Amino acid sequence: MRPMPRRTALRLPALLLAAPALGRAQGQARLLVVGGGFGGASAARFARTLAPEVAVTLVEPQPRFITCPYGNLVLGGLREMPAITHGYEGLVARGVRVVQDRAVGIDPVARRVRLGGGETLAYDRMILSPGIALRWNAIEGYDEAAAAAMPHAWIAGDGAQLRLLRRQLQAMPDGGVVALAIPPNPYRCPPGPYERISMIAHYLKRHKPRAKILALDAKERFSKQPLFQDAWRALYGAMVEWVPANVDGRVMRVEPRAGVLETELGTRHRADVANVIPPQSAAAIAIEAGLADATGWVPVDYRSFEAKAAPGIHVIGDANQAGAMPKSGFLANSTAKQAVASAVAALRGAPPPEPVYFNTCYSHAGEGYGISVVNIFRPNADGSAVAEVPASGGTSPRGDLPEQRRLEALYADGWYESITADMFS
Ligand SMILES: Cc1cc2nc3c(=O)[nH]c(=O)nc-3n(C[C@H](O)[C@H](O)[C@H](O)COP(=O)(O)OP(=O)(O)OC[C@H]3O[C@@H](n4cnc5c(N)ncnc54)[C@H](O)[C@@H]3O)c2cc1C
Repeated sequence: MRPMPRRTALRLPALLLAAPALGRAQGQARLLVVGGGFGGASAARFARTLAPEVAVTLVEPQPRFITCPYGNLVLGGLREMPAITHGYEGLVARGVRVVQDRAVGIDPVARRVRLGGGETLAYDRMILSPGIALRWNAIEGYDEAAAAAMPHAWIAGDGAQLRLLRRQLQAMPDGGVVALAIPPNPYRCPPGPYERISMIAHYLKRHKPRAKILALDAKERFSKQPLFQDAWRALYGAMVEWVPANVDGRVMRVEPRAGVLETELGTRHRADVANVIPPQSAAAIAIEAGLADATGWVPVDYRSFEAKAAPGIHVIGDANQAGAMPKSGFLANSTAKQAVASAVAALRGAPPPEPVYFNTCYSHAGEGYGISVVNIFRPNADGSAVAEVPASGGTSPRGDLPEQRRLEALYADGWYESITADMFS
């Protein structure tokens, strides 16, 4: 049996150390998964089920994974942090070697990955799902230091950003202003900022009813817009003001200490709490490995998710150029399965599987008030593009439908339970 790295071993309960962590037999194919979030954890778990003959290693720097999905509910006071925090014990029990470290260099020709702790891992196929990076200074003045005053809370990491935003909301005066800066497309989770507005409004309505939310948007339209706007009117009245790009919503500059957000036309908004969600790119490791193009995202073959620049590396989740597909946890999970099946087929010398991708994005617009959008996607024959299957999708119906909203909030809870089980159990 291969020894588990000491740092990982120390954090695992004794019971799990006795679990059948697979050593690699001579000649056994190696699947290396980098990133243990929605794409990576789903891939590692699925690989163990689909191809027990393959040795699976997962590299992830965080000891536990905090999900961005349902993070907004923590802001709303409807969940606490433990409810969105997940351990890797289930994957270890399934025979995944979990290495708590960060990939710092990829050599796609030699098929090796260098880790921050000094270890080098060789692979036959790699699944890379490192998520996003924030484009510091794309908004003038918004750099990593600024995020300590104006949190983004858009990458979960160790949870510090989400906790900071929640503390700021709790500390602000009644009658204060919460401003959000919302980025242009493409970015992680198209409906996420609007669910965040809703959950902050839910919190404020109960605790600071005279407060206002000013949502400054670099776009003119957004996901599930009529449904969100109906909900805001019905649940929060005049509390939420959404300012689109054509009404001077685009934030160009921030002054973190003064709490100022400045827009394209030079309007200066002072906020008691500022949640700045900046423009994004693929995570640093994907860019440094030369996998991304000038867009900052990784072009892939949509049948297998192999990076165009590096055969043998399947890039899934938010880091790839997703075409028509939104950057969602649901799709990271769905495409993880296709990427693993393609990688395993290649290792077995078998034909690749037939691709089809699913997405349902639920959002909570209030307590017991769920809305959703559903789509199914397929790539074209040569894998150069991916499109929605005609008439495959849709959104929740509009109207005064309290029972529908109540049920969709429950379906959303069910989705969260089942996808996190599909990643970590
Ligand atoms: C507020 C919010 C709400 C959301 N709500 C929903 C929702 O309701 N439904 C939905 O489907 N999606 C939702 N999303 C989107 C979802 O979180 C992402 O689409 C999903 O996390 C993408 O998965 P991923 O694997 O690409 O990245 P992640 O899940 O972020 O995982 C990336 C992992 O890679 C690790 N990593 C990074 N660099 C390295 C490295 N160099 N070496 C090793 N590991 C590395 C990171 O530590 C991280 O654990 C939401 C997002 C936000 C911000």
